[in-house]
Amino acid sequence: MAKDVWSICFMCTVRCPILVKVVDDDVVWIQGNPHVPGLEGALCAKGSAGLALLHDQERPQYPMIRTGKRGAGQWRRASWDEALDYTAEKLKAVIAAHGPQSVVFGERANLNTHISKTFMKALGSPNHFTHDALCKGSVNTAFRSLTGYTDAEMGIDYANTRYIVLYGRNIFESLEIRPINNLLDAMEKGAKLVYVDPRVTITATKADRYLMIRPGTDLALNYALIHTILKEGLYDKDYVSRWVIGLEELKAFVEPYTPAWAAEETGLPAETIVQIAREAAAAKPQVVFHYGYRGAHHTNEIYFRRSIIILNALLGSIEAKGGLIIKKGPKAAGRGDIGKYVNQEFPKITAPRFDGSGGAVFPVADASHGNPQQLAKAILSQDPYPIKAAIFNRIEPLQSIADSNTMRKALDTLDLIVAIDVNFSEIAWFADVILPESMYLERADSIQLASGLKPQLFIRRQAVSPRYDTKPSWEILKKLADRLGIGSYLPYESIEDIWNFQLQDLGVSLTDFDAKGFVALSKDPILWDRKDGIKFKTDSGKIELVSPLLEKAGFPSFPPYQPPARPPEGRFRLLVGRCAAHTHCSTQNNLYLNELVPENELWIHPQAAAKLGVQDGAFVEVESAVGRGRLKAKVTEFIHPEAVFMLHGFGKTVPAQTRAYQKGASDAVLQENLSDMVGGSPAYEDTFITVRPAK
Ligand code: SF4
Repeated sequence: MAKDVWSICFMCTVRCPILVKVVDDDVVWIQGNPHVPGLEGALCAKGSAGLALLHDQERPQYPMIRTGKRGAGQWRRASWDEALDYTAEKLKAVIAAHGPQSVVFGERANLNTHISKTFMKALGSPNHFTHDALCKGSVNTAFRSLTGYTDAEMGIDYANTRYIVLYGRNIFESLEIRPINNLLDAMEKGAKLVYVDPRVTITATKADRYLMIRPGTDLALNYALIHTILKEGLYDKDYVSRWVIGLEELKAFVEPYTPAWAAEETGLPAETIVQIAREAAAAKPQVVFHYGYRGAHHTNEIYFRRSIIILNALLGSIEAKGGLIIKKGPKAAGRGDIGKYVNQEFPKITAPRFDGSGGAVFPVADASHGNPQQLAKAILSQDPYPIKAAIFNRIEPLQSIADSNTMRKALDTLDLIVAIDVNFSEIAWFADVILPESMYLERADSIQLASGLKPQLFIRRQAVSPRYDTKPSWEILKKLADRLGIGSYLPYESIEDIWNFQLQDLGVSLTDFDAKGFVALSKDPILWDRKDGIKFKTDSGKIELVSPLLEKAGFPSFPPYQPPARPPEGRFRLLVGRCAAHTHCSTQNNLYLNELVPENELWIHPQAAAKLGVQDGAFVEVESAVGRGRLKAKVTEFIHPEAVFMLHGFGKTVPAQTRAYQKGASDAVLQENLSDMVGGSPAYEDTFITVRPAK
C-alpha cells in the first residue's frame, strides 16, 4: 500500500519538514515539504541519506547489556523489560547511595527535550545538559547580556537582507536549507555577502568579499568596525537613541581600536575594514552581522559575540526587516502556549548543578543548557559531589567534548552509563546498557513549535514500522520513569496523548496537520513596531551595552582587547569545522555519506608543509598537549599559515562502524579543554598542535 507521510528530518538538528513516500511499509522517497516557503521541496545530501540510516545493519538492533570490559564490544542481547529493569535497578542503587544529583542526563536537543527535562526534574537531579552549550553557550550569554533574549529566541530575516557578514559561519557547507535558499534569493536581488574565515570554504568562494583573517582576531576586526561606524556617525541615530543605552561608554572604549590598529592585528587592510563599515551602514537596517557559529572560539569569546550583536544594534538591525528578528511564539500570535510537561510542579531540588552553570563556576551561563565540558573534571574531582550515573541520548561526549582521553577515563569510573542512541556511537560502545532508539522515519515524536516571524507547528508522524527492536525516546523514558516511581510526571501512554497535551491551549487539532504537514499560527510576519513596540527583556527594556548581568557577576562589559597567543615556532592553531556531507559526529558511518566524505584531512599551508617535509596526500602525525592522531595531509593555500584545519567527527574507534572505523583523526582527542568562563563556551580554538610526516 502506498501513502504519503508528513515528518521532520533528523539527520541534523535543523529539522527540515519532509514528505516521506511509503510503499508497503518501506520508504521509497524523501523530499522537503513542498508547502513550506523557503524549503521548496528541497533536501540536502544528509537528508537524502536518511534512507541509508533506515536500512543500516550497523546500528543497534535490540537492547544490549555489556558483558566484557567497557568499550570491548562484548554484549548480550536483552529484552526491553530486562534492559529497562537493569537500568532502573542500577539507577536506584546510585540514587540511594549518592542522591539523585549523582545522575546526569546529556542529550542533543530534540523534539522530546521537554520530556527528558521532566524526567530529570522528577528524579530530583539538576543535571540535565544539552549539546547547545558546547556549540553556542557564549552566543546565548552575549544575547542575554545585551537584549535579555537567548540566541534561540533570535532569528535572521535572510530573505530581505541587503548586507550580511559571516564569521566562520560556513553557511553553504554547514547547511540549513531554508536560510540558504532565502539568502541566495536575497543575493540574486543584490544583497552583498562578506565572509571572514582563516580558511577558504565554499561560502568564501560565493562571497563578494572574502577576508582571510589571522586566526583568533575576529574581535579586533569588530572593534575597528564599531570604531569606524561611531567615528563617522554611520549608526542608526533614531534607533540607537530609542533602544540602546551605554553609547558614550562604548565610544570611549573603542576610541583606540582604529582600523590601522586592527590591520596590524588581523592582517586585513585598514581600508577594507573602513569600506565594510561604510557598506554595511549604507544598507542599514537590512544588515546582518551573523552571531553564530564557528567564529573565533576562545577564552574571551563572549566579547566577540557581544561585538557582533553591538554592530547589529548600532545599525538598527535588531527587529528589522532584513536584519535580526526576535522570534515570535504562539502568544505573540494571540494563541495559548504549547503544552510542556516540564511546566509541572516538582519536588524542590537543592543541590547545585555539577558544572557550576548559573552558579559558582559559570555565574552568567545559561543553566538550562549546562556546561558539559566540565563533566570529566566534576566526575574525577567529585566536586561538588560524586557523579555516578550518566544517561546520554544522541550526544557524543567522547567526540564533542574536548580532551576525550580524560573524558574516557572519567566516564570509566561511573557505576552506570546508559546510551539511548540510533548509532553505535563512541559513547554507546562504551556504555553499560544500550537502549536503541528508533530512527526518525520509524517513530512519531512531540510536535515541534518553530517560533519565528510566522510561528508554525510541525509534526513528525511515523512513516514506517521499526526495522529492528527499537523504541522512541519518549517511550523509553516513560518506561524507565514508571520503574523509578516517577511515571506520574509523564502522564501519557501514546504519542497521541503527548500531541493532545501539547495542542490543548493552541486552538489546533491533529487533523489540521493533514493537508500540509504543518500549521501556521500567524498569516503575516509579526514584526514589532520599531518606534515603540520592541519588547527587549532587559530591566531597562532596551539594549544594554553596559550589562548589569555581567557587571553584577563581576565581569566587565568592555575589557581591554587581549590579543590571542601566537602559535610558538613549529606549532599551529587547530581549527575545526563542518562539511555538507556530515552532521557533527553522527553520520560518518552512513553508507551514502561515507562514500562522499570517508575521512578527514589536515589542511596545511604549502610553506609550512615544505618546512616540515609534509607531502600532499601523505599521512601526518599530529599531537597536542592532550592527545595525538594520524590523518592525511591536504597541502593548500586555502588555509592561513598560522593554522591547520580538520573536519569534526572522524577518527572513530568503534569496530561495529566498519565504514568509518579508524578513518581520519578525532579533533576532540587533540583539543584542550579550556572555556570562556564568562560566556560558557569551550574555547575550541585555543589548542596548538605539532605536525610531522608519519613514520
Ligand atoms: S539540513 Fe539536511 S540533514 Fe538537516 S534537517 Fe534539513 S534536510 Fe535534514
